Amino acid sequence: MRLVIGHRLAFMTEILKRGMNALLRAPGEEIMPHVIAIKLGISRAESLAIIAVLEAEELVESKLLIYHECELGVPAGAIPFGKGFPQLPWTCGLCERSVDTYDELRFDVQARTLVAVEMV
Ligand SMILES: [Zn+2]
Repeated sequence: MRLVIGHRLAFMTEILKRGMNALLRAPGEEIMPHVIAIKLGISRAESLAIIAVLEAEELVESKLLIYHECELGVPAGAIPFGKGFPQLPWTCGLCERSVDTYDELRFDVQARTLVAVEMV
């Protein structure tokens, strides 16, 4: 699927598009903002902007990964991206504690390509 980004994502140079396309070349590819940021040498915010455009075009399916302070290296839950934050109290999938403040939680985004995408 060719995605004409036009005036969106104005920071995307041809080199960045090529780098991004390498990450999107097949359905089922998992992409996360920090991985895009490292591979392309762009900011995390720019990486999130790319995912938001892909999500808006329904080319990826994204999840908001939820991490609890009991084990910050492993997601304790996930909800569809774009639906806001989890409702509190939220029950941790790892320690099963009931969490009633966002202060104990961290979030990240994980997207999965639904089709091969070529940004042009
Ligand atoms: Zn927990």
